[in-house]
Amino acid sequence: MTYDKNNIFAKILRGEIPCKKIYEDEYVLAFHDINPQKKIHALVIPKGEYVNLDDFSSKATEKEIAGLIKGIGIVAKKLDVSQAGYRSLVNVGENGGQEVPHLHFHIFGGEKVGKMVT
Ligand code: AMP
Repeated sequence: MTYDKNNIFAKILRGEIPCKKIYEDEYVLAFHDINPQKKIHALVIPKGEYVNLDDFSSKATEKEIAGLIKGIGIVAKKLDVSQAGYRSLVNVGENGGQEVPHLHFHIFGGEKVGKMVT
């Protein structure tokens, strides 16, 4: 699986294009989605170069995996959606509808998210 260093999230990670940052640590960067599908729509991405969840699950270190999962929880708390609930999902590949080839977890909340799959 070849990582495209010119994908939009790689550019955001390098600071070449701006984002509305929510949280950043050693392992993750989280920012608001540019085209929100719900009142709250955030993206949490690993700092490492991983195309998608398959790539990440097979190549990432234990620390990177823990860091990403912990990061999602931290971001949910920062967005104040933990109590009321939210949905986190990952699109993988063509059938999954993945548009940006750098792994990202979506976080939707701030209102009822609706049916799981449409
Ligand atoms: P996916 O279809 O799972 O690959 O989701 C890609 C998401 O990235 C979409 O929800 C887009 O709105 C979002 N997106 C694309 N470009 C940007 C950007 N520059 N800043 C923030 N979000 C973006």
